[in-house]
Amino acid sequence: MAQEDVFKKLIAHSKEYGYIFPSSEIYDGLGAVYDYGQYGVELKNNIKNYWWDSMVLLHENIVGLDSAIFMHPKIWEASGHVDAFNDPLIDNKDSKKRYRADILIEEYLQKIEAKINKEIIKASKRFGDVFNEKQFRETNPQVKQNQAKFNTIQQRYVAALETDDLKEIRQIILDCEIADPVSGSRNWTDVRKFNLMFETKFGSVSEEANSIYLRPETAQGIFVNFLNVQKSGRMKIPFGVAQTGKVFRNEIIARQFIFRMREFEQMEMQFFVRPGDEIKWYEYWKEKRMNWFKAFGIDENKLRFHEHDKLAHYANAAVDIEFDFPIGFKEIEGIHSRTDFDLAQHQKFSGKKLQYFDTETKESFVPFVVETSIGLDRTFLMILSNGYSEEKAPNAEGQLEDRVVLKIPPALAPVKLAVLPLVRKDGLPEIARKIIKELKFDFNCQYEEKDSIGRRYRRQDAIGTPYCITIDHQTVNDNTVTIRYRDSMKQDRVKIEKLREILSEKVNMRKLLEKID
Ligand code: ATP
Repeated sequence: MAQEDVFKKLIAHSKEYGYIFPSSEIYDGLGAVYDYGQYGVELKNNIKNYWWDSMVLLHENIVGLDSAIFMHPKIWEASGHVDAFNDPLIDNKDSKKRYRADILIEEYLQKIEAKINKEIIKASKRFGDVFNEKQFRETNPQVKQNQAKFNTIQQRYVAALETDDLKEIRQIILDCEIADPVSGSRNWTDVRKFNLMFETKFGSVSEEANSIYLRPETAQGIFVNFLNVQKSGRMKIPFGVAQTGKVFRNEIIARQFIFRMREFEQMEMQFFVRPGDEIKWYEYWKEKRMNWFKAFGIDENKLRFHEHDKLAHYANAAVDIEFDFPIGFKEIEGIHSRTDFDLAQHQKFSGKKLQYFDTETKESFVPFVVETSIGLDRTFLMILSNGYSEEKAPNAEGQLEDRVVLKIPPALAPVKLAVLPLVRKDGLPEIARKIIKELKFDFNCQYEEKDSIGRRYRRQDAIGTPYCITIDHQTVNDNTVTIRYRDSMKQDRVKIEKLREILSEKVNMRKLLEKID
């Protein structure tokens, strides 16, 4: 199946099964804004808890924070967002569609890279064990030509970004003959800058109201509370502050489902270190964060690091963790060594000292910061894309039929257990209710008695419920139930009293956390 089709199916599936709805749908929706449904909110909360616990529970030197969305407007001047939080936009005059000029170029570069990789994979299959990739890259004319083209464009692109040369960015698009992906037209406008922050009025009387921004990242709330947390928590460097919360960006493109939203959630952690130690901690967090993804079973081949072509104004090292979405490898998390930029800027703009006093050396200094910044919604999309699977499964008569299954890691799945009485009589529903009454304090359980067992299984597969138990007539006699596993579709007969133990073993968040501790 083509990857675009997978993406479309995922969007339809998310809506049909209560994961994600377009916002304000009965009014024809609102661009790049989405609502999370009954299962979506559970999955989102579970991811958030896994992230939070991996930071705050597992590190005694990391604490949490929940700062306000509204912040003093000067904060965004100090952080550089008022001047520099811009994306370069370009319009296609024929299709009237708007694009990010940088993304058009980056996607073009990615296509060249993909061509090179395809040649390499082909050759490695042809030559087998004796294949020498380095030699092949240096000698294959096709690969050499593509690599040279890639290098030239990339150099021009990076130089244009560094000098903020919008004319040159447009020229690269023209020279590479990049066409509008929708209409195929190459009739482009100039490139313009567009600030992504939402502005609103703060205060009740309009003449007195001040302009204020909705925060475009949670990080600044941590920086401006640096001393509050450090002093009240008696934190010793190195230490971290973690925060999750809504952020807002007036994104230019609104065509990528929850990958690019105008209102979304971030999970960020700022780690304050001694100047000079930042690269050591940057490497530490790079590895830690990659392991966080691997621990919940994301296919390693679908994850990669991507070094930044151009460092942000505040960073001295930066890397993205990318996931291979159905729309290609894209950023899911950024790990940035932010130097002392933010604290020093806030010190300057507020006139308040933001320094750490080292009681041992009796020195004061502005700490350096290593940041991990992950999008909750993109993580959500990663789990759905990674888990979505269309398969054949035998029905009650043994014939194969289609099943769609969401293979969500059990610890993160919205519903852990579906309890299904085989029939709606003979005391079976009562036994099912009794089991739920006992287990509901620990696990999200769902009771379902409608339709055939096969159809109920299909529905639970589509929701991603890892375990279903069926109460049948044998249960009345011997207190056993069948437990059915979502991924293998295997079934076991187990004692009711064993259920808690079996489930705890499989769905407990602790198991995930132990892997990364
Ligand atoms: P991009 O280059 O894709 O616009 P970014 O580099 O601007 O992303 P950061 O500012 O580093 O992103 O934000 C940290 C994380 O927040 C990203 O890795 C991503 O997971 C998430 N994120 C950023 N923008 C969006 C968005 N518009 N919708 C959903 N998640 C987002």
